[in-house]
Amino acid sequence: MALLELAQELIRIKSISPKDNGCFDVIENKLVDLNFDVQKINYSNVENLLARYGSSGPVFCFLGHTDVVPEGPIDQWSFPPFAAEVNENILYGRGAADMKSSIAAFMIAAKEFLKLNPNPNFQIWILLTSNEEGEKEDGKIDKIIDDLTQEGKFIDYCLVGEASSSNIVGDTLRRGRRGSLTGYLKVIGKQGHVAYPKKVINPIHLSGEVIRILSEEVWDEGNEFFEPTSFQISNISGGTGATNVVPNSLDLVFNLRFSPESTADSLKNRILEIFEANNLNYEISWVKNADPYFTKDNKFIDTIQKAIKKINGSEAIIDNGGGTSDGRWVAPMGSQVVELGPLNKTIHQINENIPIHDLEKVKDIYLQILQEVGTS
Ligand SMILES: [Zn+2]
Repeated sequence: MALLELAQELIRIKSISPKDNGCFDVIENKLVDLNFDVQKINYSNVENLLARYGSSGPVFCFLGHTDVVPEGPIDQWSFPPFAAEVNENILYGRGAADMKSSIAAFMIAAKEFLKLNPNPNFQIWILLTSNEEGEKEDGKIDKIIDDLTQEGKFIDYCLVGEASSSNIVGDTLRRGRRGSLTGYLKVIGKQGHVAYPKKVINPIHLSGEVIRILSEEVWDEGNEFFEPTSFQISNISGGTGATNVVPNSLDLVFNLRFSPESTADSLKNRILEIFEANNLNYEISWVKNADPYFTKDNKFIDTIQKAIKKINGSEAIIDNGGGTSDGRWVAPMGSQVVELGPLNKTIHQINENIPIHDLEKVKDIYLQILQEVGTS
């Protein structure tokens, strides 16, 4: 199996979340050939694959996902999104950067590593899911992590193959991610004719001041590794459509990306205090999409930096920005979780791509990481 062909084979499978759609069959066949013990674990609407090699020593786990986001308007793509075409040494397709290339790169890295080291002093696991990008209701990999914990199994080092790099492969890695909290707010007023202002309570006017306070609030200062918590309103709607009617209520959706200096509960409490202080009549519901996570221990980071330095000549910078990732499910085990993968310039976009040179470099870095883990 060759790297480019494997990446292409995976991209050609239209595996939109939460469907794996057969990627795992391709992966399973190839990993069985490399003497991995492969299990497929399905529940809810999600499919998962856990492949294990070796039975003693610390567990190194590559974590990834085969699902992709929808391709969007197909006529805007220069190359069909599921054709995996190569043009001027660039591989195009949905999943080329996020993250089928990383999966292919790790599989080839494992193959090359095991050829030279058939009995490594650590265990190699590959844990993949078909619903990283999609909705929580369809199932996430947290259940597998819970089951492993119940069985007394532990992941020591977890490498997440998400596209972390900015300008060159390996220039940026993540050792944590912010949390995400969404609030669905309904501000309740009193409907009536605009010509009788004393007889109405205008929820739009009431919201103005509260929005100003929320958007100017300093939630925390962040820390050495995290930006301060940020608040953004993503949706607002109110009004009956008529120009002469004050509506009864206004709906507003907001989201906080929060650093480990805050918690979902501390943020909720502060927001409710602001509502109370402004005598707001409201209803609210919350969805906590993710808690923040952060790898404090330096051992695995140092190992990865050593590998990156050998390939790139310099270490990666550490940036814990970006959205959420499946690393958040593994981190609570106490694992050292690091995210490292290709450039994130084109992820989720039209014409998502990876230069072939980058694809090979991701593989080189992953191979070097395996070698460093073996000697650390
Ligand atoms: Zn991803």
